[in-house]
Order: sequence, then C-alpha cells, then structure tokens
Amino acid sequence: MNSLWNDTDAAQYSDELELRAYTSRLLGQNPALVLHGGGNTSVKVAQTNIFGEDEAILLVKGSGWDLATIKPAGFTALRMAHLLKLSKLERMTDLQMMTELAVAKINPEAPAPSVEAILHGGLPYKWVDHTHANAIVTLTNTPEGEARIRECFGDRLVIVPYIMPGFDLAKLTLQCYAAQVNPRTVGIVLMSHGLFTFGDTAREAYERHIALVTEAETYIRAKSQEPRTKNQHS
Ligand code: ZN
Repeated sequence: MNSLWNDTDAAQYSDELELRAYTSRLLGQNPALVLHGGGNTSVKVAQTNIFGEDEAILLVKGSGWDLATIKPAGFTALRMAHLLKLSKLERMTDLQMMTELAVAKINPEAPAPSVEAILHGGLPYKWVDHTHANAIVTLTNTPEGEARIRECFGDRLVIVPYIMPGFDLAKLTLQCYAAQVNPRTVGIVLMSHGLFTFGDTAREAYERHIALVTEAETYIRAKSQEPRTKNQHS
C-alpha cells in the first residue's frame, strides 16, 4: 500500500483543520482501508472562545460525512475538558454518551460527532487516524489473531480485545493503552475492528497508518505462501 501524501497538495492547506481534512481524504480514498465503511479521524487544537479564553478543542469527524470526500465542515469541535471528564466516568449508557457529546459541542449546529470521539479525546496525541483496514481485521480474525498481531508488530501496537463500539470500548481502549504503552508505541489494534495510529503531525499519523497496514499485508502474503504444517487445520 502506497502513501498518497503529496507535499505540493499538503502545502495548500494552511490551517490544521484543512490539513486534517486532507489526510482524512487520503485514508478515505483507499478502499483497502475503508471498504467496509467507517473510520474516523481527529486533531486537537487550541481555539479562542467568545470570552477571549483559550480552549483545548477536539476536531473529530462528524457523522454523515464520508472520509473520502470530507471537508473542514465535516468535523465537529468538542471541548476537550468535557471529553476528558467523561472518559473518567465508570459507566454511561450509549444514549447518555450521545447526549454528553452534544453538550461538548462548541457549535450546536455542527454534525453529531463520531461515537469514537471520547476515545480520540483520551489519546494523548495531537493527530489520531482510525480505519477498519482490511489487512488488520484479516489478521485479528484468524485463529490466534492476537499472537499473529504480536508476531507481525512486536510491542509497537497496543492490543484491545473486541467489544462493541461505544463508551465501554473507549474506556477499555484507554485502559489497555495505559497498561501497554511504551516508547515504541505507534498505534492500537482493536481486535475484529481496526487500527488507530497517532502522531505529532498529520503526515506522521497518516504515514504510520499506511506503513502498519503494509506490514500486515506483507505478513499475510508471506504466511499464505508458507508450506502447510501439521499445525494447520485447513
Ligand atoms: Zn471504528
């Protein structure tokens, strides 16, 4: 899988939201990353509110927008302070979560944010990219999926067991992240779900995504060419 990053194109985008929309489109234009729908992206920025106060804001993909064609208007601005408080709650129903995400919006007219917004907000990185990449899901869905992810990626990815998307997944992912993070960490695999990568720049988060999915594709190709052993059942 090739990176679609283009310096000339990227140079047109002067602000972080435009750049966020640009690399989101690069992810969305690759069917091997988003074929089964979904995926979402975010960036954390500082904005000055009407009182002249600086606020930490999460700009996260809004529902109803497709990553392949998303524009700055497709991102919803949420107050980080509210998101971080929510992420510390023990439990919340998914209905409460959607209400609280609406409360966190700085513009009531903005689209409903991704259900994965609390997860994005809780990860301590500026740029966060998430897709349901085919090659990653293919690996996690094999027998011994977790062992295969470890064999392919070593300890560079945090591994999160499968649960349905929602508040519980955000909590579990942030707990797994805290328990497994190390200096080599570049992303998170959600079993039977997809991949998160992050970085200090839009390009870093995006290029890590492409590099990791490429590694998974290479691993799958190598394994499928190996001669069968007595341990394989099919
Ligand atoms: Zn997802």
